[in-house]
Amino acid sequence: ATPTALLVGTGRGSQLGILIAGPQVLERTRAVDTIVLDKTGTLTSGAMAVVAVHVVAPGVTERGMLELAAAVESGSEHPLASAVVAHAQELAGAALLAADLPGAALPAAALVDFASTPGQGVTATIDGHTVVVGRLDWLATEWSIEVPGDARSLAAAHETAGATVVGVAAGGVLLGLLAVGDTLKPSTPAAIRRFRELGLTPVLLTGDNSGAAAHVAAEVGIAGDAVHAGQTPEGKLEVIRSLQAAGHVVAMVGDGVNDAAALAAADLGIALGTGTDAAIAASDITVVSGDLLVVVDAIRLARSTLGTIK
Ligand code: ADP
Ligand code: MG
Repeated sequence: ATPTALLVGTGRGSQLGILIAGPQVLERTRAVDTIVLDKTGTLTSGAMAVVAVHVVAPGVTERGMLELAAAVESGSEHPLASAVVAHAQELAGAALLAADLPGAALPAAALVDFASTPGQGVTATIDGHTVVVGRLDWLATEWSIEVPGDARSLAAAHETAGATVVGVAAGGVLLGLLAVGDTLKPSTPAAIRRFRELGLTPVLLTGDNSGAAAHVAAEVGIAGDAVHAGQTPEGKLEVIRSLQAAGHVVAMVGDGVNDAAALAAADLGIALGTGTDAAIAASDITVVSGDLLVVVDAIRLARSTLGTIK
């Protein structure tokens, strides 16, 4: 993959909002037989919303936990982060209104040592405590945080219903869980049908949990054996490589920092312009609007342009 810089092919590409890195890209598009799709922000809108909050530590308030989580997430550009920040602001706003005070801003917490681990979560030091927000497995293995069995079953119940669950921990203790919901982009089911019509096999590749992945796969008609959930950025790269090793020519569509390595390794990397700069830089094609039906157009355009050149 080369950096997306210039627009080639035909004027049609730019009209449709499709940026192509160079003429060599068109050549590779013809042979593609498999289209690997990221979930969050690619199949789904990424306009996530907090659907449930569970406090599990004694003496912790829902609002206090959300403010900590939101303070850390304010440093992240993940779709889930905006959901947490927005929910905390709503709660703070409601509390301020109830107290009849002006303004609804959160108290500005001093955020020190912010760090983001793509596909896992975020951390920062707040008032001297390490606060971690992310996957429960990551909290347990990387941060040695004890996740009680009932917190895990609570999480599993939300995940089966299609939600993404993250844990919030401070000072080495799990404070609680946030369940975050997402919805399909309106055009996703139609786009998946059209990929199939073009002879491409859709594969779902996500860092999210298997419950949320299965939920989305069922909604769009992707087969269970074509779903790879819980994948780290390296895991995503490995899935691309193993498909290639099995003889497939692979296109990958993604939007996140966590997709960059997979996008670069794919025979055809397609970034959504609504995504992060890292994904765009790693890709051969950028679809400015982020609409998957335009990804369909991009593949058809590349194939037909090639036909015209040859
Ligand atoms: P996808 O592959 O579907 O785009 P990601 O790889 O971006 O998903 O994220 C995988 C998982 O990592 C998320 O479902 C979440 O549990 C966790 N995660 C990623 N970023 C964050 C964040 N900023 N805050 C909390 N958790 C996060
Ligand atoms: Mg994504």
